[in-house]
Amino acid sequence: MSDPFPHLRIDEDRFRAGFDALSRIGATPDGGAHRPALSEDHLGARAWFHERAERAELEVHVDGAGNHSARLRCGLPGARALLLGSHLDSVPHGGRYDGPLGVLCALEVLQTIREAGLSLAVDLEAIDLTDEEGAHVSMMGSRALTGALREEHLAHPHSGDEAFAQALARAGLTHDGILAAQRDPVSLAGYLEVHIEQGSRLERAGTDVGVVTGIVGITWYRLRFLGRADHSGTRPVAERRDAAQGACAFALAARETVLRDYPGCVVNVGDMRFEPGAFNVVPAVVTAALEYRSPDGDQQHRMERDLLDLARAQAERFDLELETECLEAIAPTPMDERVQHILASAAERLCLTHTPLPSGAGHDAQSFADLCPTGMVFVPSVGGYSHSPQERTRWADCVNGANVLLQAALAMGGAEIGQDLQDSQDSLD
Ligand SMILES: [Zn+2]
Repeated sequence: MSDPFPHLRIDEDRFRAGFDALSRIGATPDGGAHRPALSEDHLGARAWFHERAERAELEVHVDGAGNHSARLRCGLPGARALLLGSHLDSVPHGGRYDGPLGVLCALEVLQTIREAGLSLAVDLEAIDLTDEEGAHVSMMGSRALTGALREEHLAHPHSGDEAFAQALARAGLTHDGILAAQRDPVSLAGYLEVHIEQGSRLERAGTDVGVVTGIVGITWYRLRFLGRADHSGTRPVAERRDAAQGACAFALAARETVLRDYPGCVVNVGDMRFEPGAFNVVPAVVTAALEYRSPDGDQQHRMERDLLDLARAQAERFDLELETECLEAIAPTPMDERVQHILASAAERLCLTHTPLPSGAGHDAQSFADLCPTGMVFVPSVGGYSHSPQERTRWADCVNGANVLLQAALAMGGAEIGQDLQDSQDSLD
């Protein structure tokens, strides 16, 4: 593989200043960030990105799904775009690194390459993708761009119709515009993303970067345990149809099942709503949010069968009805082996230690994997904390991630992408 500019590095001071400025938007006093997709603070972060890209003399583009791009054109007619991306939205009361780090790495890489006066064979595009975290519709921006999003996904937003409509209005987006954001796959040269690991494997192993092998499959179910409201003082416990008992028994049993039968997989009951919800009323309905993840598609299907059987058994045990609704089912996604090789080579050029590892979290990269060469780099998360204000990555590791992205972008964009990937494949063989 060609190694055109092995000594080029990002500007660490500018990178840091950008991170600090962005971290102030939607900052929470505990050191975290609260920027749910299309909230005022999320739109504020996007405005910051827009302004920053313009100041860097990059071309700014916003598509119908709200995806914000900064572009560095190569000037060749019909050139394809190598996308470097992540997301500026956060989970509610989340951290400052999950997403923004990848967007800032991408922006920094474009600025570095522009200032070095290099011309590549592809357009480079730093992209901030809409609603990766699924405040409304999970990975809405990347799925819209890659043509995987349909009207039915927009018809059932996690936030509810009213909140979604308000959010779209705030951002100036429409259903039609979102669905029209699809790009021709032929126009995509690849997709690369730097992200924090959100786990503790790299830190424990003392390894600088992780080269992601694939992204786990994720399924979301809404379970409704239906019983009967009763006077909590007069109806004997044994005669109740208490929806809370079934839902809680299920949550405990699901943990045991996954620990016993599905090593390497995870299950979560992340929310329970009790109705009517009072001290003195036996719960008539409990609505539970069930999520499970597996790196293997067949295993993901077996988990579905076993966990739903378990929910039915616990509902029966407490004389309840059970309603199940599948909200999301995303298959596991392998990353491109040739891109993994390019990323590992980039780490080696920088004298960084690296290891292959699967991602337990979903990422926008999975939207691109079927359409173009796609890869991800992980940098260590201190203590493995993520989706919380404790989320942190040592600054030297953030810089490493940006430099790996820079070197990989040069390798993938420095020559005709097809030939470069072919060379990489040859060296794998
Ligand atoms: Zn993320």
